[in-house]
Amino acid sequence: MTVDLEPDLGSRECKSMHVVIPRLLEFFDQHNIKATFFTVTSLLEKYAPEIKEISRKHEVAAHSHTHHWLNPVNAEWEIKKSKEVLAEYGIECTGFRAPGFITTKDHLELLQKYGYTYDSSFARFFPGRYQNLTLPGKPFQREGMTIFPMPTMIYPAVNSGLSYLKLLHPFSKVFPKPYMFYLHPWELLEKKELSAPKSLVNSLLLRHSGKKAWEILQKHVEKAESKWISCREWMKLNPQPLAQRHTH
Ligand SMILES: [Zn+2]
Repeated sequence: MTVDLEPDLGSRECKSMHVVIPRLLEFFDQHNIKATFFTVTSLLEKYAPEIKEISRKHEVAAHSHTHHWLNPVNAEWEIKKSKEVLAEYGIECTGFRAPGFITTKDHLELLQKYGYTYDSSFARFFPGRYQNLTLPGKPFQREGMTIFPMPTMIYPAVNSGLSYLKLLHPFSKVFPKPYMFYLHPWELLEKKELSAPKSLVNSLLLRHSGKKAWEILQKHVEKAESKWISCREWMKLNPQPLAQRHTH
């Protein structure tokens, strides 16, 4: 189970931190779920106690420092900075997810350089953003790192995320349950609580927000056959053969 903890859609604010996160943590407890929160680390300036609280029960990993999409100019700084900021707050971070699933060519090299052990930044297909049609639908090893690829509910383009379940509801009820799921806290805000600029994409993203989104999430979570765990826990349960492991 993964959460992208970032400012609300189309905003620099993070209303969801106080409106959604406490309820989400309670929901995870009730369903015995351990999650990885890929966190935009600039949020620590304002929300350090809230994020530390999340890290007591769940894994906190990096989702860059500013949520700007990675490019050859900013990638190294974003990757380095987000890990450093979490360390300053006493949070050990070993995983990374790139904003928008957009990465640079040397992405894994940079992650290794700064001591990450896993990545969750690759998705299969989004016009104009990324195209990895042969991406596996399950975790795999590459360049000594564990990769958690974003699986799709319908090949190749419907990522396993709450945004798509909401958008395609009620047809999404019959979607298969891929090994990983992701959501953004702002998806659970009521539409009126969001101040996202009006655009076609934003109105699609806001379909079935708030109460309906909670229902959709709950139904989806309850259908899973095995326990929802964090990326770090998955790695503990699935140690890689020595030959493939990164050694120092
Ligand atoms: Zn994001």
